[in-house]
Amino acid sequence: MASTELESIAATLGKFAFPRKFAVELCAECNLACSMCHHPSMKRPKGTMPFALWQKCADEIAAISPRTECWFSFCGEPLLEPELLLKCLDYGRSVGLKSMNINTNGMLLAPGLDEAILHSGAHLIVFGVDGFSKASFEKYRVKADRDVVYGNVERLLARRDETGSKLAIQVQFITMDDNAHEVGEYKAYWLARNAVVKVRRQLSWGGQFETGLGISNDERIPCPWAVTMMHVFWDGRVPRCPGDTECEEGAGNAWHDSLSNLWAQLGRYRDLHLERKFAELPARCLKCTDWMTGAAERVRPQAEAVPVEPTWQRLNLGAAR
Ligand code: SF4
Ligand code: SF4
Repeated sequence: MASTELESIAATLGKFAFPRKFAVELCAECNLACSMCHHPSMKRPKGTMPFALWQKCADEIAAISPRTECWFSFCGEPLLEPELLLKCLDYGRSVGLKSMNINTNGMLLAPGLDEAILHSGAHLIVFGVDGFSKASFEKYRVKADRDVVYGNVERLLARRDETGSKLAIQVQFITMDDNAHEVGEYKAYWLARNAVVKVRRQLSWGGQFETGLGISNDERIPCPWAVTMMHVFWDGRVPRCPGDTECEEGAGNAWHDSLSNLWAQLGRYRDLHLERKFAELPARCLKCTDWMTGAAERVRPQAEAVPVEPTWQRLNLGAAR
């Protein structure tokens, strides 16, 4: 099963001249300390991306490939900087970006932000909601309150449906040991409220976390993250991949170089992946299991589209968190 599914993802990968997906670390601070995330142990300086840096990136993406999926954020919570987020979305819309997506833990979505988010120009908002019961949710989403997050997402969904906003709203469930048994209940709950449900595997964040995914290295495929996605940290640094969480193997800085050049500099790693020369990859790749996480099950609210068995979609990465 895994091998077929992974090879179907691999079949979608190739030499891309420009990233298909672009993660923008708008803010490297976070209000939570999730147990499966790199953020609580992050050592690099934390800060907020200057608007001018996003403008520079957005201008280049709009000129070269406006359909590139832009994801706010990477390691940090974008709703800690709501005004900046809205300003960045507005700018992205003004230059013609076609896919701008927000990734949030949902705790800070105050009612006063609903209208602004619904009409911000964002195409999709993904909430990290890793549990149905309060116990399992708060075990993983440390410092969050399950009932606050559920209330915020439900309110936004209701408001979206009342106003006719086109914003797509997803709840994302990362399956782990103590929440996997809740997936069925979770799906039913959120589908009834008109959310898209995304179920995905746990990341190892460059090999830092034991994920127990049970997939053999013999089934290894090119890493979809490395081959399709580029990340820019709040200070402009570009890591080799999302597993390079501290930017120890970075390509350079988006303040001083074009995204195209930085993407080209990372091309030698993409070639090693695509040519399946896995033994020649940096040591981090050899312990990282994130190449196994390039698929997610996504279930839509329409009854006829709800599969009985999970359908693992091809290359449905979204953002790392
Ligand atoms: S998963 Fe997101 S919300 Fe949780 S600690 Fe990491 S960055 Fe913060
Ligand atoms: S497998 Fe390698 S390229 Fe992919 S995320 Fe992990 S460290 Fe990065």
